[in-house]
Amino acid sequence: MTTRDKLNALAANLWWSWNPEAQELFRRLNPDAFEQHASNPRIALANANEDVLGDASFARDVDEVYDAFSTYMKRTPEIEDVPRISYFCMEFGLHESLPLYSGGLGILAGDHAKAASDLGLPFTAVGIFLKEGYFKQSFDDEGMQQHDHPAIDPEKHPLARVTDDAGDPVTVTVHLGESPLHLQAWHLKLGRTDLYLLDSDIDANPEEYRSLTRRLYQGGNLVRLQQEIILGIGGLRLLDAIGTETDVYHLNEGHCAFLTLELLRKQLDSGQPLQSAEEWVRERCVFTTHTPVPAGHDRFKPDVFTEQMTAFREQLGFSEEELLAYGRPDPEDDELPFTMTVLGLRLSRTSNGVSKLNGHVARQQWQEMYPNRPLDEVPIGHITNGIHLPTWTVPHARAFLGQRFGNWLARRHDPEFWQQVEDIPDEDLWRYRSSLRGLLIDYAQKANSQQTLKQPFDLNPDALTIGFARRFATYKRAPLLFSDVDRAAELFADSDRPIQILYAGKAHPEDKGGKRFIQQIVEMTEHPAIEGKLIFLENYNMEIGRMLVSGCDVWLNNPRRPYEASGTSGQKISVHGGLNLSIADGWWPEGYNGSNGWVIGPEATGNLKDPRPEKEQDKQDAEALYTMLEEHVVPTFYQRDEDGYPREWVAMMREAMKTLPHAFSAKRMVADYVNTVYRIPANV
Ligand SMILES: *Cc1c(COP(=O)(O)O)cnc(C)c1O
Repeated sequence: MTTRDKLNALAANLWWSWNPEAQELFRRLNPDAFEQHASNPRIALANANEDVLGDASFARDVDEVYDAFSTYMKRTPEIEDVPRISYFCMEFGLHESLPLYSGGLGILAGDHAKAASDLGLPFTAVGIFLKEGYFKQSFDDEGMQQHDHPAIDPEKHPLARVTDDAGDPVTVTVHLGESPLHLQAWHLKLGRTDLYLLDSDIDANPEEYRSLTRRLYQGGNLVRLQQEIILGIGGLRLLDAIGTETDVYHLNEGHCAFLTLELLRKQLDSGQPLQSAEEWVRERCVFTTHTPVPAGHDRFKPDVFTEQMTAFREQLGFSEEELLAYGRPDPEDDELPFTMTVLGLRLSRTSNGVSKLNGHVARQQWQEMYPNRPLDEVPIGHITNGIHLPTWTVPHARAFLGQRFGNWLARRHDPEFWQQVEDIPDEDLWRYRSSLRGLLIDYAQKANSQQTLKQPFDLNPDALTIGFARRFATYKRAPLLFSDVDRAAELFADSDRPIQILYAGKAHPEDKGGKRFIQQIVEMTEHPAIEGKLIFLENYNMEIGRMLVSGCDVWLNNPRRPYEASGTSGQKISVHGGLNLSIADGWWPEGYNGSNGWVIGPEATGNLKDPRPEKEQDKQDAEALYTMLEEHVVPTFYQRDEDGYPREWVAMMREAMKTLPHAFSAKRMVADYVNTVYRIPANV
């Protein structure tokens, strides 16, 4: 193979997205093109500098990376005897060059699929080709978020149209109401995982249908329903059309739950009676719910649902009420809308939330479906989310850990391995922290000079640096730190103990409250005591995410409990020596051990719904946040010994690095799914 052949092979598999050595090769081919296009290898390769391509030492580096890739693709699986899994999700966060997600759900799905590849599982993922993704964020002069929708050109990405043996596109058909809708699909390789993305934008469809798969969570409830028909029913038909066999279907969130009905239809078609057909489906489906916010579940009005499902319902041979009953907590109550989560729970063998606390909340939320069972026997368990460390650990950190511990990624989910952090001297850990902070400040300075949102920049590479980045859903309470502006200003005004904060995040275009929250933060950039020390980085994406989670000393998370199902961004900081300052919500009650970070406000107890009225909860949590910063976080950071080291801070960093990365790694998470969910129980 020539050097160019090898580069083509590398660019065709998203394996490069978690292997910085591979990315470095593409950068060398054309640094400007690479950087200007969100680190896109295909574009760098198409604009390659011929001198670099012809260089002998470059060719040797390509050989080395290509060999590592080939070895990875041939590795023996780390877990044997795993059933064949097909994983369905509405969104996938894979890399900043391919924005097919809006937030945590998508990032989690991407990390899950990558970890499945690392473990060598027989794993296929199915999603939608969101050609215009979510949206690109910019700002007008009033600090109001603006929305652009640049389209993804498949040619510029490792996306291949799915074709048959004759080279013709494979298409499948679903019905919206009584009208046929045709779907093609795109194939993407993530290491050893195959990802298929459904696409309605083809000539065979009427104009109004072509745009259906274009954007995520935009276009209202009807489009949402239609996208879910595409994902669940179309997705399964696609797997059948290409001959992908499956033992276990993993429904990641309710959006894809129609796939259970399509499985049911096939069983009924083959002559099975209803009850055994339902059993058959249930034995093969597992369901994960992520939504503790009651309004966050997809619900469809009976008339809208019935209208869209007309042809499919006739194929099933059900009456309207019979079909609606599958999505009603009380099947007898014909006033109720059709809820996707209910369908998922009803036709799956197991169901789980995504943290211990979220499992509790989900049991409480859906207890009404199981009227004769006490709360702790509601059949919803939990598997706590984790992150794909190779994706989220920045090159500087990978090098630091690599120099000390060799192939640390191979043992990343092993608690024993992380005990060795004990041996890293304070001085080295502190230098590690300071370099990562410095890299972030340089990055932020450049980003700030290029973005539409103009703000003074006065970040200090030695100052305590706090990060807050997430979707601006209002329950996450982004401006909580500024609920008492004077008290916040006092923290920023202390020139002996300077603090600074970076924000990033998008509000859903129709979420007025969320957009107002962003505006409030942007307004704070003009406060005389804060100016220059608060930077809002626009267009939050995986690159900004990676920079923030690696560079910040403290990661701030202050949702209204219990609405954060898990959260994963706080899990990304520990390997970089960052510390969590968080409400006891989502994953944090499982991570926090008293000395590896801080809890804001009351620690999580068995009592789930926060008993305090919302206003009071906000007020008390803000008070707790100020107290934590004033009395613990800031003093600990600036308490230096005679050599200038913050010994207590470094001890907390060490504790966080020892206790958190292994427990909240996606490899641990996927292994848990294999052992407790995917493996069919022996009695089936
Ligand atoms: C990690 C991450 C998320 C999810 O983070 P949460 O903790 O769930 O808010 C969303 N977007 C990006 C870019 C991320 O890196």
